[in-house]
Amino acid sequence: AHVDFEAEIVVLGAGPGGYTAAFRAADLGEKVLIVDKHATLGGVCLNVGCIPSKALLHVAKTIDEAAAMGAHGVAFGAPTIDLDAIRAWKDSVVKRLTTGLTGLARQRKVTVVRGEGAFTSQNTLRVETAEGPRTVRFAKAIIAAGSEPVAPGFIPTDKRIWDSTAALEMRFAPERLLILGGGIIGLEMATVYRALGSKITVIEMMDQLMPGADPDIVAPLAKRLGKLYDKILLKTKVTAVEAKPEGLIVSYEGADGTKTETFDAMLVSVGRRPNGKAIGAEAAGVKVDERGFIAVDREMRTNIHHIFAIGDIVGQPMLAHKASHEGKVAAEVASGHKSAFDAKVIPSVAYTDPEVAWVGPTETELKAKGVKYGKAVFPWAASGRSLALGRDEGLTKTLWDEATNRLIGCGIVGTDAGDLISEAALAIEMGSEAEDIGLTIHPHPTLSETFAMSAEAFAGTLTDLY
Ligand code: FAD
Repeated sequence: AHVDFEAEIVVLGAGPGGYTAAFRAADLGEKVLIVDKHATLGGVCLNVGCIPSKALLHVAKTIDEAAAMGAHGVAFGAPTIDLDAIRAWKDSVVKRLTTGLTGLARQRKVTVVRGEGAFTSQNTLRVETAEGPRTVRFAKAIIAAGSEPVAPGFIPTDKRIWDSTAALEMRFAPERLLILGGGIIGLEMATVYRALGSKITVIEMMDQLMPGADPDIVAPLAKRLGKLYDKILLKTKVTAVEAKPEGLIVSYEGADGTKTETFDAMLVSVGRRPNGKAIGAEAAGVKVDERGFIAVDREMRTNIHHIFAIGDIVGQPMLAHKASHEGKVAAEVASGHKSAFDAKVIPSVAYTDPEVAWVGPTETELKAKGVKYGKAVFPWAASGRSLALGRDEGLTKTLWDEATNRLIGCGIVGTDAGDLISEAALAIEMGSEAEDIGLTIHPHPTLSETFAMSAEAFAGTLTDLY
């Protein structure tokens, strides 16, 4: 059969998993080809995920902080909001990064083929490009095809009904916005639109916002959002949505029975589904489970020895930093090096206001497993830095192995929690004991001190210090 491209390693999908794998393999001397149907490299994360959402969250934070300064003696007045300019700025951030990736691929002589790819055998991939189908023959493959938003069947198609990609397009700022699904993505977008003036209602099926996170670190966020949002409905299910000219008529069922309300737009953020069913995996003999996930071992190999898989498509947590680390491992193993995915923990962050971040098992998970643990909570109301920022709701909670005094888990809620959690991740990976952390001199006054103080609280050496 005709072959258009020959590659030692083909990477399917150019998200944080795929481009990291491609670059690492190229750096190790392999001939690499990467396939993506998107016009630009970077996958969900750079194009329609992590990066554009953070650019918009920066806008939201600036609006909120300017408003809050009124109470501290500096009034800025009402903001003038230009959605087109906000969108252009967000797009420019994305463009700078995706263009950067194109340059990095070129420098490394990684061939980029644009189009939808599907396996046609254990060593060939067919790509539907704008110029027609192309065949790639490869020795090894790395599947990094990622995931997409789940769209419940009963929800109609309408310009006012958004998935996360549509929400990031900033089509308009609705007066009444319904967020269906109170997870990280839903709450981040709610933060953006609330700052732009939308009235927010959140409907969540489970009994807390951000299901799965430690309730202690979600509580301060929930309390703040409870004041800012119109409604937060937990243990509530949307049962019907009708798109009428006057609005979206939404019926939902909760503790108080069934209600119907009208919204001007709605974001459906109820989870993401892996793309395992749309890549011709069966032609390569790669096993895909009924949900679309591909099982891998610690070397990131699928059931087919020379085919690897990484990122969202191999399972939770669906996070960019997990994808990129797995990408490095797959590239190294595929290039003949010894490597394995061996992370003890993977941090999670919600870039809400306040931010919520955690790493390692939560207290609920430790209890469920019957693990003996110790804990310490340092409230930020005792942090001079936090008060100087005009905020007092933060918490740093640490969980410890009672036998060894080593850190096993940490949850932080508060300003910059997402940056602060890295120190806890490092401490867990290094096997740090509470004394190691407490004796490490942290600069004063910083929010990072709250981590050391939480360790000192556990070690019994905390003295009051603002
Ligand atoms: P993806 O980034 O999903 O990339 C897969 C690529 O494969 C896509 O470009 C797709 O076009 C391509 N593809 C799929 N099938 C084919 C095919 N058959 N042929 C050709 N190409 C194909 N994670 C974080 O860690 N931090 C965050 O702050 C964060 N924020 C997010 C915000 C939003 C709104 C969303 C939606 C997600 C966010 N995520 C965040 C999650 C993060 O984007 C994903 O975990 C990450 O992108 C997964 O990387 P990946 O390499 O597995 O695949």
